[in-house]
Amino acid sequence: MNVDDLPPLRSVLATHDLAPTKALGQNFLLDLNLTARIARSAEPLDGCHVIEVGPGPGGLTRALLQTRAASVLAVEKDHRTAPILDQLAQTGEGVEKGLHVAFGDALTLDLLQEVSTPRAIVANLPYNVATPLLVAWLRDLWREAGAYRSLTLMFQREVVDRITAQPGDKAYGRLGVLTALSVASAERQFDVPAQAFTPPPKVTSAIVRLDARPEVPGPLALFAQIERVTAAAFGQRRKMLRQSLKSIVPDAESFLEALNIPPTARAEERAPEDFRRIAEAL
Ligand code: SAM
Repeated sequence: MNVDDLPPLRSVLATHDLAPTKALGQNFLLDLNLTARIARSAEPLDGCHVIEVGPGPGGLTRALLQTRAASVLAVEKDHRTAPILDQLAQTGEGVEKGLHVAFGDALTLDLLQEVSTPRAIVANLPYNVATPLLVAWLRDLWREAGAYRSLTLMFQREVVDRITAQPGDKAYGRLGVLTALSVASAERQFDVPAQAFTPPPKVTSAIVRLDARPEVPGPLALFAQIERVTAAAFGQRRKMLRQSLKSIVPDAESFLEALNIPPTARAEERAPEDFRRIAEAL
């Protein structure tokens, strides 16, 4: 049996009595045209070892198995999906790509240890853990050059706004700075209306694609410092930097002057590179 011979996802859910649960952030995509479109946003995946977090009933997994990826690893917390994903693993494409399903919490998995290169992540993320997962994967890009060739991820649209925001934008903050300093590019792909999901969430979703730089952006310790600086600076985003950075540099005023950054500037208007320079000087 091939992927295209499988029953529609709605009947798969009914047959296996898989009722979505809120605690696991389960909003399923049952429209295979849409899951194919997400997989296309991740192309080219030729030769990549693809990691999908949260396959659920496997709509996006089906699409990923039909790409030119070398293999697919699906990480899922919900054991109830096992019979559905087993069936997917037994399709022609599932066998060819060696679809492997790891049951567990994606937050505790070290993908750099588990998966060989070149890697790519494609996922419709569970919203309750989406941001910590993104930050962990950005950190991975500082641990290993080009740790992921690309990351094609679905979030709530408001989170994609934050990831792609520029200085001065309302959504500009810690997530935009961490992303800009970690990747070569962050491109919004398309929006997905709430009605496309089962059950529909309260908000619109969107896909973002991040492409890695060929080299690590800097030493790993610097990423931690940038996290510290952006947490302090954007924790009090309306305050002047000389005030908001006091918790990490006692004499913030002369520290900022030495870096040629006006101490009266506010975090929301400063470029990502400024936060890198602040972090380097700590
Ligand atoms: N990919 C499927 C789709 O597009 O229909 C499901 C997406 S649903 C938004 C998120 C999935 O992530 C669910 O299947 C849920 O069980 C799973 N999940 C939630 N928390 C997780 C975690 N910490 N680690 C791995 N999977 C998780």
